[in-house]
Amino acid sequence: MPIHEKSLIRPENLKTHDQLVIDGVDVSGHWSTFIESRVVTDYNERLEEEIAALPGGEHIHRCWQCGSCTNSCTVNAINPDFNPRFWIYLIRTGMESELLRDKDIIWQCVSCNKCTYACPRDVFPEGVMKATAHWLELKGHTPKSKSTIFDEEFTEQVIATGKIEEGRVIRNFFAKTGQPLLQDWLVEMVKRIARRLPFKQGLTMALAAIFRPKTKNWKKARAAISEYVQEQEQHRRKSLGIEDRT
Ligand code: SF4
Ligand code: SF4
Repeated sequence: MPIHEKSLIRPENLKTHDQLVIDGVDVSGHWSTFIESRVVTDYNERLEEEIAALPGGEHIHRCWQCGSCTNSCTVNAINPDFNPRFWIYLIRTGMESELLRDKDIIWQCVSCNKCTYACPRDVFPEGVMKATAHWLELKGHTPKSKSTIFDEEFTEQVIATGKIEEGRVIRNFFAKTGQPLLQDWLVEMVKRIARRLPFKQGLTMALAAIFRPKTKNWKKARAAISEYVQEQEQHRRKSLGIEDRT
């Protein structure tokens, strides 16, 4: 089974001279190729700990770099730069600046979990990808992704009422992400659902959209869940050294 290796020699670090003569010998062109020395001084020694503190990243320390995750990865098959094994290596060795070079593609994980089934060490690479994408957002390296905004909207509704009203989730998500509500695919989907939906169920959904029903005796549960979510959030921010931003 091939291991998807990744070269640490970047093209911009390869130097050649078009015209170079040394001791009377012409070594122009690729004969004079050399690699610029690469010195890493800005290690983040807490990087592995920080990723491990986020949901999904807990087992990153188990990785033995076999490459099975990258080898089985759906996204790697179409984008060779998407390399979970390599990112786990960078995280475990504290090479934050190297990791940040790929910050704009880490979110591309499609959560197919092929890597999770392939991993012989139960690292849960899919979880590590999620934790890393979350870490990038929390540290301010990338803007909040649409999937994070959707998750937040969903969670807010569950905590507020103990129920999910899909229409409200979609409306609020579109408003927060600046998308128009009347999108062709959505209008078509609503039409098709409306055609097949039993009248009673349609009426219940319409009333729920207007009156926003709550789960009975939800107040205590809401307080307990809110407290737990807040505690977890504070714990994560503290682990990442960003508690003063709350
Ligand atoms: S879950 Fe993500 S990292 Fe794992 S195989 Fe699928 S796309 Fe790749
Ligand atoms: S995460 Fe698992 S599959 Fe990927 S390199 Fe590490 S041990 Fe191998």
